[in-house]
Amino acid sequence: MPKRCYQCERDNTADQAFCGGCGAALGLNDYICEKVEEQLRDAIRDRDILETESSIKVFERAWGWRLDCQSSWKPPFNPLMAKEHLR
Ligand SMILES: [Zn+2]
Repeated sequence: MPKRCYQCERDNTADQAFCGGCGAALGLNDYICEKVEEQLRDAIRDRDILETESSIKVFERAWGWRLDCQSSWKPPFNPLMAKEHLR
């Protein structure tokens, strides 16, 4: 049973962990973890967006997903802590 890439929709053989076309992770969980980390990195790089309530909600959701990931990546600071300063 081929694995379809979530990013480019190319079919890959079942023994592949990463897409042969674009290099994205083929496991759904791995793929989501990758995307969440990307989002968090972007959010942290652009700290200004954390000043609006809606972006903080998006961040909190992404942060919750990330807790399910087997990831060793740590942000340089925790924006949810920074949020407290905004009040
Ligand atoms: Zn792909």
